[in-house]
Amino acid sequence: MEETIRKFKEHLNKMQAYGHAFGILNYDAETVMPKGASEHLGMTYAVLSEEMYKLTVSPELKGYVKEILEHRDEVDYITRREAEELNEEMQRTEKIPMEEYVAYQVAQNDASNAWHTAKVTNDFALFAPHLEKLVNYTRKFAGYWDPDKAPYDVLLDQYEKGLTMETLDGFFALLRKELLPVVEAVVKKGPVVDDSFLRARFSLPKQRKLSDRLMEVMTIDRNHCTIGEVEHPFTTNFSKDDVRITTHYHEKAFASSMYSVIHEGGHALYELHIGDDIKYSPLGGGASMSIHESQSRFFENIIGRSEPFLAYILPDIRRFGPRALKDVSAHDFYLAVNKSEPSLIRTEADELTYSFHIMIRYELEKQLIAGTLQVKDLPEAWNRLYKEYLGVDVPNDTMGVLQDSHWSGGSFGYFPSYALGSAYGAQMLKVMERDIPVWELVAKGELKPIVNWLTERIYQYGCLLKPNELIVKACEAPFDPHYYVDYLKNKYTEVYGL
Ligand SMILES: [Zn+2]
Repeated sequence: MEETIRKFKEHLNKMQAYGHAFGILNYDAETVMPKGASEHLGMTYAVLSEEMYKLTVSPELKGYVKEILEHRDEVDYITRREAEELNEEMQRTEKIPMEEYVAYQVAQNDASNAWHTAKVTNDFALFAPHLEKLVNYTRKFAGYWDPDKAPYDVLLDQYEKGLTMETLDGFFALLRKELLPVVEAVVKKGPVVDDSFLRARFSLPKQRKLSDRLMEVMTIDRNHCTIGEVEHPFTTNFSKDDVRITTHYHEKAFASSMYSVIHEGGHALYELHIGDDIKYSPLGGGASMSIHESQSRFFENIIGRSEPFLAYILPDIRRFGPRALKDVSAHDFYLAVNKSEPSLIRTEADELTYSFHIMIRYELEKQLIAGTLQVKDLPEAWNRLYKEYLGVDVPNDTMGVLQDSHWSGGSFGYFPSYALGSAYGAQMLKVMERDIPVWELVAKGELKPIVNWLTERIYQYGCLLKPNELIVKACEAPFDPHYYVDYLKNKYTEVYGL
């Protein structure tokens, strides 16, 4: 058995190394790679994916996993969980023929390139055939993985174990019922503060300094976390040793980068605090997309858009920022960054209307994967839902259906994680408030005890525990969306004096 475990771990190291290389190439492509290199990169991807595929479905690995699982009571918990995860992944990969797996990687790379160009040139027709390919592959793969389930349920389950359309339909129906009246009341009331200072010119070098300061307040270890600049901010990590966040600076919208940094910083904190015993293991990452989003959105919105945090950070913003901020009070700043307004762009949306952006994508994905909506009809369906849920007219596809990168990367079933994550965060806050003086700490800029609380209940476990187990660990109860609804209702009633 000892020998099997040794060989198993050796095999995992090899897979980890390929994953690492793949990840670095991805990061490079998103940040500094010249556009003209994409064909060459596609060739490299094809070679590496084939090797990764072989490693994942290798008969040796299968043998180790089988033996470990047969003796599951004799091996340590980490090894057992690794074998379980690998077993699931192998079964998933094995069900896809190798040629299709490799062809899919190439299609994904092509789609991503086409999307970048299509977004800049407002040319949905350029992206459409690529998207269609990805939708077809995805539907096919979902059928391979579990032919007895609705394909979209199969996809949801990959991002969040056990999540189904039935659960999400109920979740979104509750949000619609409880929050739509609040959205309407806010629109009726209109702006409560002049927020023009958010559009004052804030030089990029100074915004970079603000980013450094924000990462410092968030207690992010810069020895293990860098910040890069991209069109569409994201976080990536290769282990807890190497986490990379990114942002996008706009000279006349500094809050946009500020909240990207706090959001991605939340993702980074999670990865940076994974337990040392699993740091190079396949278990050494976030447990699910929703749990990850619960952390990024917790820091971005619950902490980052709270009045105590803003009162604390405002002097720094004033120190780096434009003159227009000199006389702005913390309260006005708080009102300004919590302004709610139905709008076009998801990533810029306020907390209250945000879930509606997700609902729209959820409805559309569901239909695309079910085959009841054709890719060519997607822009029209998108625009119709934006009118229906948010009352806004979409002027072009760049600001509409082409705005997000997710579908170009083949991520279908991911979007609901954002809304679900926000809701998890609100529920965690309730328990955290009972354990530690959250707002007193935030007012003093002392976020360490908050990070420690989250590390103890969530971060350290990586993928050792399943998402629903983590929720129970953190919240001492199963998921309940009412905390989120109450949190939003209270906050916007206060901000808008409803
Ligand atoms: Zn995120």
